[in-house]
Amino acid sequence: MGLFSGGKSYSVKLYGSGVLSRPALPVPLVDKEVRLLASEMLRLMRKFDGIGLAAPQVGKLLRLIVLEIPEPEEYTSKGEELLLPRMPLTLVNPVIVGSSRETATREEGCLSVPEIFAPVTRPAVVELCATTLDGETITCECGGLLGRCLQHEIDHLDGKLFVDRLTRDASKEIAGELSALERTAMRNHYNRR
Ligand code: ZN
Repeated sequence: MGLFSGGKSYSVKLYGSGVLSRPALPVPLVDKEVRLLASEMLRLMRKFDGIGLAAPQVGKLLRLIVLEIPEPEEYTSKGEELLLPRMPLTLVNPVIVGSSRETATREEGCLSVPEIFAPVTRPAVVELCATTLDGETITCECGGLLGRCLQHEIDHLDGKLFVDRLTRDASKEIAGELSALERTAMRNHYNRR
């Protein structure tokens, strides 16, 4: 059971856990508790070698995400230039206010859906609006892995997982693994009682 339990207070919720499909509420105020949550999320994300984590994944229905995206060989957007040197980064109430018509397809994974990977098609570039823990407003166009990761994490805030965005074929391919994971999550849930 140790694998996905994350220390004293938080653990990463797995596929099948109800909290992952519910919409999260805006963070009204960045107080001590929100800062503590963000640092716990960062700790868990690093523990499991993730590049992004959203608060619902640790059971908190708040619009808060943490990112730690590696630097690419070259930037393809202003947002990467601005944000990648600032990793790890916590974003409060992030919103996607615009999307490119151009799309990109790339394999995704998720700490809540461990060891399952599948290709997801998303807008190649998105315009992000968010604030930092210090109240700074960030507005920028984000492409590359950053743009993709932002869309994946903000999906979590709307109760959506990458496996909800697959083509029918890709969906079929992982169906068996997903139901096995769901059974594990259920078993763990009952064990915890
Ligand atoms: Zn995820």
